[in-house]
Amino acid sequence: MTKQIVVSGIRPTGNLHLGNYFGAVRSFLKMQEDYNCYFFIADIHSLTTHPTPVNLQSGVKQVLAEYLACGIDPEKSIIFIQSDVPEVSELYAFLNMNAYLGELERTTSFKEKARKNPENVNAGLLTYPVLMAADIIIHKAQFVPVGKDQEQNLEMARKFAGRFNRMYNCELFPLPQPFTFDGGDMIKVPGLDGSGKMGKSEGNGIFLVEDPKDIRKKVMRAVTDAGPLEPNSKKAEAVENLFTLLKIVSTPEVVSHFDAAYNDCSIRYGDLKKQLAEDIIAFTSPIRESILEILKDEAYLGKVARMGAERARESAQKTLNEVKDVIGFRRLF
Ligand code: ATP
Ligand code: MG
Repeated sequence: MTKQIVVSGIRPTGNLHLGNYFGAVRSFLKMQEDYNCYFFIADIHSLTTHPTPVNLQSGVKQVLAEYLACGIDPEKSIIFIQSDVPEVSELYAFLNMNAYLGELERTTSFKEKARKNPENVNAGLLTYPVLMAADIIIHKAQFVPVGKDQEQNLEMARKFAGRFNRMYNCELFPLPQPFTFDGGDMIKVPGLDGSGKMGKSEGNGIFLVEDPKDIRKKVMRAVTDAGPLEPNSKKAEAVENLFTLLKIVSTPEVVSHFDAAYNDCSIRYGDLKKQLAEDIIAFTSPIRESILEILKDEAYLGKVARMGAERARESAQKTLNEVKDVIGFRRLF
């Protein structure tokens, strides 16, 4: 039986954090056993925020090492760097012709980013969902493991794929579906600064490569409130966020212990934070060591990137030729 196809990527905009791991990478590890997986480093996407060449280069190397350290296996998955596959940019150009200003402007992530950085509302930011669609459909992916923050962009990818199929009366592209680790809802790992998601650009990440003492500092500084005043009261968002992280990295016993303490008002947030910090460190430490080891081996990193690029291009070229055929780029003279 042919394996179903999976595509997902991460921007090389900083070190991977717990949100990237539990929102995306954890699913990558699961999927690489049974699916035909393409995992890439989205360096073109990262240009929306104008990294310096030096930062871009080190960011790409870092994410590649982190992918490998997390356990993505270049023998099982195709690991590649987006700009090594120029076919993606070509498909992006074609798809842009059928992506409308209104729908792009209405995208939540575009509105959010334009609001936060009004001085840099560039066309790449606007057409981000189009490039993301090209990334996915160029390999004819059926599944895309991503976090909740990408839900709408993935919907747009489905829309663009379906629109292309209808426009050219073909069934070239499957409509890519989200994939979640446990088959449940897409997840959002919160930051510890009171609200919102953990993110590389949000400046609130707890990183896989982070030193244990820095993790302890960050967790101990997490926003809370004055504590529950009545038994069984509703948790404030910042407190809920601490519990969300605890559920991700700690055992169910630990979670119920602190839940019970919250509900009978005996909770001491300091104890919860200490436990949370140690459980995060227990989880990240082996990955951190492996990242630092792999980063030293540039020959290996280069080999993985070259091997991935070759395999990804093969698949991308095949689709792009089909696309050109249906669009009408085949020379008849
Ligand atoms: P940036 O701030 O540069 O956009 P990011 O932290 O949002 O970086 P991305 O590279 O945009 O990371 O996303 C990579 C993957 O990680 C995507 O699948 C995204 O859904 C997932 N992801 C990112 N942050 C979270 C989060 N807080 N919770 C769950 N998934 C997340
Ligand atoms: Mg992001």
